[in-house]
Amino acid sequence: MHINQSTISENGAVRPTNVEVYLDRLTENFRAIERAVAPSRVMAILKANAYGHGLVPVAQHMVTLGVAYLGVAFLEEGILLREAGIKAPVLVLGGIIGNQVPLFLQHDLTLTASSIEKLQQINQAAQQLGVKAKVHLKIDTGMERIGVHYYSAHTLLETVLQCNSVEVEGIYSHFANADAADLSSAKLQLERFNQVLAFYEQRGLSQPSLRHMANSGAILQLPESHFDMVRAGIMLYGVYPSNEVRQTIQVQPALAWKSRVVYFKVVQPNHPVSYGSTWQSDKMTRVVTIPVGYGDGYFRTASGRAEVIIRGKRYPVVGRICMDQLMVNIGWETAYNNDEVVLLGEDGETGAAISCEDIAEWAGTIPYEVLTNINTRVPRLYCSSSGE
Ligand SMILES: *Cc1c(COP(=O)(O)O)cnc(C)c1O
Repeated sequence: MHINQSTISENGAVRPTNVEVYLDRLTENFRAIERAVAPSRVMAILKANAYGHGLVPVAQHMVTLGVAYLGVAFLEEGILLREAGIKAPVLVLGGIIGNQVPLFLQHDLTLTASSIEKLQQINQAAQQLGVKAKVHLKIDTGMERIGVHYYSAHTLLETVLQCNSVEVEGIYSHFANADAADLSSAKLQLERFNQVLAFYEQRGLSQPSLRHMANSGAILQLPESHFDMVRAGIMLYGVYPSNEVRQTIQVQPALAWKSRVVYFKVVQPNHPVSYGSTWQSDKMTRVVTIPVGYGDGYFRTASGRAEVIIRGKRYPVVGRICMDQLMVNIGWETAYNNDEVVLLGEDGETGAAISCEDIAEWAGTIPYEVLTNINTRVPRLYCSSSGE
């Protein structure tokens, strides 16, 4: 039993393919992280449609849990949250481009100041609008993505002192290797960040109230990087950031991806299946068709390697994965039209499971991309529990 009375369908889904999001699992994962990092607080990272789980419903749920801060990548994601009536503080992690600053200010979104020019641009726009811009300074300690290099950060921090329309609420940096077994690079980045923070003491100034650096890898492996707040992304969704990371906090996947058998047939020996005729059976076999494909975000590169669960057992996906359909070889076993197919997640009865890590391996990618790749054509169903 997977979809119960409390199931809310975002768009009245009639499609047999859907993603079930288990809100109770999100709660448990959030609380586990909160307990582990206390007294540091937790920013829930909701970028890329909340790692595929649905931006607004996940944000609303996080707000009910009393989340300290929400984090998104882009201005547009922040505006969607505000338009949905979310009042919690929202930090936009990405760089500011063009003339976006007034939109940030109009929607009460916290800006990332990632260079001196951008800081001044923010200050000017805020001055013109007669408001104070809430800003987190971004220091690059080794990721080389966005942010002011740690070795020139003092110039940024000096400039801040002249920006009267900016309130520096936070300062942060981002790890490149916090999910690795070898933490020497992460520790070097942490040391650089601490050196930047020493500026405040040297100048007799108080530090911004929200210093933050830890992503999931550092939440798990580097408690000394938790500062005032941590930025929990993939762990919140119950998936570990890498295979080698130490799993010091227990979390469980909060999502399952399911479909149903739409077609059953017997395939004769040496009759190839799907585009390119890349697969055929040397004996008579039963093949079922499932109405989901790479047009939904199920990786085509997993062709010939992927497996799905039908009636509690794993079977191979055979032939090329199509845009809207894929074929599964069930050998000489039984399956009927409308049988449930688990693409990702657990079978309620047998406990057979397919993980994000499994799909990532079949597709040659990482679990992050497995989640964010499930696109908006797949309806999301929100369940209070996994029903197991
Ligand atoms: C995506 C992101 C995070 C979250 O990373 P996880 O590894 O998913 O926990 C944190 N901080 C920044 C700046 C990010 O871009």
